[in-house]
Amino acid sequence: MEAARLHEYTDDMTEGLTIDEVDRPAVSGSDDVIVEVEGAGWCQTDNHIIEGMWTEYVPQELPLTLGHENAGTVVETGEDVEIVSAGDPVICHPVQTCGTCRPCRLGETMHCENSAFNGLTHDGGFAEYLHTSERAVIPLPSGVEPIDIAPHADAGITAYHAAKKAVGELNPGDHAVVIGVGGLGHIGLQCLNAMSAAQITAVDLKESALNLADGYGADHLVNPSEADVPAEIEAITDGTGAAQVLDFVGADVTTSYAPDITAGGGDHHIIGYGGHVHEPSQSLVNGEFSFVGNIVGRYAELQELVALVEQGDVDLHTSRYELDDVNTVAEKLEHGEIDGRAVITP
Ligand SMILES: [Zn+2]
Ligand SMILES: [Zn+2]
Repeated sequence: MEAARLHEYTDDMTEGLTIDEVDRPAVSGSDDVIVEVEGAGWCQTDNHIIEGMWTEYVPQELPLTLGHENAGTVVETGEDVEIVSAGDPVICHPVQTCGTCRPCRLGETMHCENSAFNGLTHDGGFAEYLHTSERAVIPLPSGVEPIDIAPHADAGITAYHAAKKAVGELNPGDHAVVIGVGGLGHIGLQCLNAMSAAQITAVDLKESALNLADGYGADHLVNPSEADVPAEIEAITDGTGAAQVLDFVGADVTTSYAPDITAGGGDHHIIGYGGHVHEPSQSLVNGEFSFVGNIVGRYAELQELVALVEQGDVDLHTSRYELDDVNTVAEKLEHGEIDGRAVITP
């Protein structure tokens, strides 16, 4: 089968991956599931993996097939698999877990001590077939197509995970700010809108992203190229600040907003990454606000997101590309030329 693989770390996105002919994965364990990939979302994290940014954090062996936002149809299952069988459409949680370590017992999928992460530590879904396990697949309800839902396997669940934490702290009358209405932000915004009564302000440099935010229920729109973000948030919130900030950019400039825009006791959630947090410790003491990290989400949260999608509460803005186009997609994303999410169709 064909697979888009990383052979060498590079900053040049035009030649990041090569299309290789590799063996089709086969069932080897009793709980294995082989999925014919119909859609695989391209993520900013794929660019970061190509750049080698993950080597400090996870063991990685090259060549590696990237692609962690996968959905498709089950073609083969191990003898003990019960929740799916050949022909079933599924979305694949990117992390294959052991099920027996303490984090797994607590439902903390992301902190499994014996995990494999598709497209990061294990061959992913920019290929015709994906090797995964029963604990990682979620059967799709009828009417939800794999190709349409694929990016929710990571972009969606990550946005949902942060939005769910924020919603738990948002009361009616409170304000939330969504910074960056791109691949993840446009999903996070809809999750907030579906699950809370808070007033939502969307912040983005691109007018097209702000228009998208407007359509997805943002109450206020702020463009940092035209307005001072802290001053705008102060005016919108009558000086109290935002109880919850979802930062889908995670650049130095966006994390620096926190002391000025986060309400006392509030949270500035870091979801996008690449920059640093450099705020004075005194600002955290005075404001008693927190920076909160977010990585992907639990298996159960992906089930909840699938329910929101089935109910029509979360729409996914996507464009489709062939497997051969992977480097074009990486290059376009690098230059901010992709609205919503690019989906590779192997
Ligand atoms: Zn991703
Ligand atoms: Zn585990």
